[in-house]
Amino acid sequence: MAFTSKEIQLRYRPSGEANGDNFATVTVEVPDPGPGQVVVANDWLSVDPYMRGRMDDVESYIAPFALGETMTGGAVGTVVASNVPDLAVGTTVRHFLGWREYALLDAGHVEVLDTDLASASAYLGVLGTTGMTAYVGLTEIATVRPEDTVFVSAAAGAVGSVVPRIARHLGAKRVVGSAGGAEKVRRAEEDFGYDAAVDYKRGALLEDLRDAAPDGVDVYFDNVGGTHLQAALDVMRPHGRVALCGAVAHYDAEGRGPGPDNLYQAIKKRITLRGFIISDHRHLSTEYTKLAAGWLADGSLTSEETIATGIDTAVSAFLDMLKGGNTGKTLIHLPRT
Ligand code: NDP
Repeated sequence: MAFTSKEIQLRYRPSGEANGDNFATVTVEVPDPGPGQVVVANDWLSVDPYMRGRMDDVESYIAPFALGETMTGGAVGTVVASNVPDLAVGTTVRHFLGWREYALLDAGHVEVLDTDLASASAYLGVLGTTGMTAYVGLTEIATVRPEDTVFVSAAAGAVGSVVPRIARHLGAKRVVGSAGGAEKVRRAEEDFGYDAAVDYKRGALLEDLRDAAPDGVDVYFDNVGGTHLQAALDVMRPHGRVALCGAVAHYDAEGRGPGPDNLYQAIKKRITLRGFIISDHRHLSTEYTKLAAGWLADGSLTSEETIATGIDTAVSAFLDMLKGGNTGKTLIHLPRT
């Protein structure tokens, strides 16, 4: 049985801020699976900030989206047609052909998921790349030690809402966050495990951060870059460690945007700054999934999601997320009728 799939393609590249005209929605017929192939009906699509970088034609750690081709990204779905003996119809799998309703995949490109362990959507968020990013940043990159004070930017987003609970498991004494707006600050403090959070949109980030972390910061988990990194360097303690995870303040900007003007702080205080890309750390996936599943089960790790429904909402959910319209992991749910 052939499937008809609605899919999102990149129509043209943005200059500065991305907008809906950059994308096109097309409808295609998905061929029947050949030997060793399956067709997956996507149930959940992941929407991530790095996708904005893939809209630009620049060299990076991942290829740009091609114009006129369906975009890709993390997805979880159900096998609906199979030409693979050990991948039965009904199996829940994770793969990388998102931004579409149906995907034709080689069996080697899908990973079978255990939905008794956690919900299917969690495998794109707290149990997926999002959670792994928090874990790797806090263990391999800016190793948290007992009694550390940790500062996290984009604190109410996907990665940011996971960092405090993991930092606490690693022994952190105090975790402070920065987020845009009073409601996100409230959620960070009440729901995501922050001891204190500041609203950077107030325009007094450095002063507010000094108040929130009066003894200074040992580890900064940087999701934002620019003025957040600058403020963090000013409040960091000697021998502090910075995990350079993302620079979302720059992704939609025309040109490079502001950079920290105080890098000399890193010299004076012997601070280590280290960037990382999560795909270099896949070998930790089994270790992390086991730990995180246990923490989810005992309630010491929680999952926060902002869900839009239907493929037609994917572009606006993505653009909204870049502007802070989300709390926790941004997902598109594709219910089948
Ligand atoms: P989020 O869910 O955090 O969404 C992005 C958030 O960025 C928004 O919610 C918004 O929150 C915040 N934001 C947008 N513009 C600005 C700005 N100018 N200043 C401050 N905050 C801003 O996304 P993720 O959790 O998925 O990703 C967080 C970061 O981690 C991103 O930079 C991403 O690229 C990076 N990342 C890196 C990985 C790696 O391998 N290195 C892997 C995964 C993610 P607010 O309302 O608070 O402004």
